[in-house]
Amino acid sequence: MRESLEIETFRPRSPALFLDVDGTLLEIAATPDAVQVEPRLRRLLRALCLRTSGAVALISGRAIATLDALFAPLFSLATAGLHGFERRTATGSYHRCPPPAESVLQLARARMEGIVARYPGTLLEDKQFALALHYRLAQESAADILRDLQLITAEVRPHLQLQLGKMVGEMRPAAATKDDAVRAFLREPPFCGRWPIYIGDDLTDETAFECINSVGGVSIAVNVRRPTAARFSLPDVGAVHAWLASLPLGLPDRAAMIAGVNQQRFQPIPLRF
Ligand SMILES: [Mg+2]
Repeated sequence: MRESLEIETFRPRSPALFLDVDGTLLEIAATPDAVQVEPRLRRLLRALCLRTSGAVALISGRAIATLDALFAPLFSLATAGLHGFERRTATGSYHRCPPPAESVLQLARARMEGIVARYPGTLLEDKQFALALHYRLAQESAADILRDLQLITAEVRPHLQLQLGKMVGEMRPAAATKDDAVRAFLREPPFCGRWPIYIGDDLTDETAFECINSVGGVSIAVNVRRPTAARFSLPDVGAVHAWLASLPLGLPDRAAMIAGVNQQRFQPIPLRF
């Protein structure tokens, strides 16, 4: 595999794929543990890895260990977890940003457990270095929950920051974002020199969309009905699978690549987090 990766770096128009997971490769479930990875998706990812000589990376808010368990036995994928806080390269080396102080995480955990106690249906997902509060099953209390999360943010800033998503508010390390992870991958084989494609669905993907746009890549938003920096869109997870399966990876031709994705009807706007 490694030999072919070095050869691939001499084909600068070959694509590299950066793929968000929840809401992009996987349907969002009622709770984070309830998602399903179908064998067909594993086969698709394996095929994409082979066809790109390993230039496929998962870019997720989940921890790498959780993603490994979900996608097993696909253990060797290049992966960024916790929104870019941790990263495993295509050759398997592991990088992590300096973690937030344990005292800060404990404070956030205690405050968020208080929210869970106050609002039935909410769920706290403890990712060790990040804490996600899911309120998909308590949507009627969304405004109050978001207000309470904002109050916690004031206590844990600047070590943790609030990352909003689809029915989730997460206290994540402020040290890294998804675009940091994408930039780091693009400096290394087998991604360096490639033409990057990023597919994502949520607010945390916006910095990566901007990064991809800045280097002339293809940014694709999935099922997004808000302003986004993504230049293209696909309607749902099924369409992502179908588009990836039909991607003419052997053809270094931008027009062929973007056939099948829709031009975004939203004006790209710069977003700040
Ligand atoms: Mg997502």
